[in-house]
Amino acid sequence: MRRLCVFLGSNPGLRPDYLAAARELGGALAREGIGLVYGGSSVGLMGALADAALAAGGEVIGIIPQRLVEKEVAHRGLADLRVVRSMHERKALMAELSDGFVALPGGAGTLEELFEVWTWAQLGNHTKPCAVMNVAGYYDGLLAFLDHAEAEAFMRPQHRRMLIEARDPAALFAALRAYEAPSVTKWIGRDER
Ligand code: AMP
Repeated sequence: MRRLCVFLGSNPGLRPDYLAAARELGGALAREGIGLVYGGSSVGLMGALADAALAAGGEVIGIIPQRLVEKEVAHRGLADLRVVRSMHERKALMAELSDGFVALPGGAGTLEELFEVWTWAQLGNHTKPCAVMNVAGYYDGLLAFLDHAEAEAFMRPQHRRMLIEARDPAALFAALRAYEAPSVTKWIGRDER
């Protein structure tokens, strides 16, 4: 794993655990020699993650659409800040440069990014691991809902299992490295269940 793409909130969230987890992951990535790819912002959890990775001497690539350079306060301390034209270009480049994806706590933007790469994996468009870092139980409700979606036959068990769940960087890195994409990822249809 050369580079990990991290999706996370442009807000810091309520609990100090969220900021602490972002900082912990930033430091751990640098120590593992894994480069960070993220949305290029200096605010919220995004900024805390990048600052921690930079402080520990890690590689950080930020990718931000022109329109958000001011609004999300692009991180000016990055040696590699790529300003792109659109959200679509941002996500495509983040996906291309990374060997795996993880979502820390965040809002609609974080969820949208996670779900897109996970659905791309389900369709077999890529074979990279997708993970959720469940800091302080933030994603408990979402993970329970995904179990419900599987139980109600809107999601195949092997697709549900593709989404890695981890609580700390060590467990995350171990699971990402152990990941093997299912050989058949396409949704064939109801009769195939
Ligand atoms: P949030 O989790 O809402 O704080 O957003 C986290 C990051 O996701 C921010 O950098 C947002 O600009 C970004 N984001 C929001 N919507 C999208 C989208 N449709 N495509 C790509 N990134 C997005």
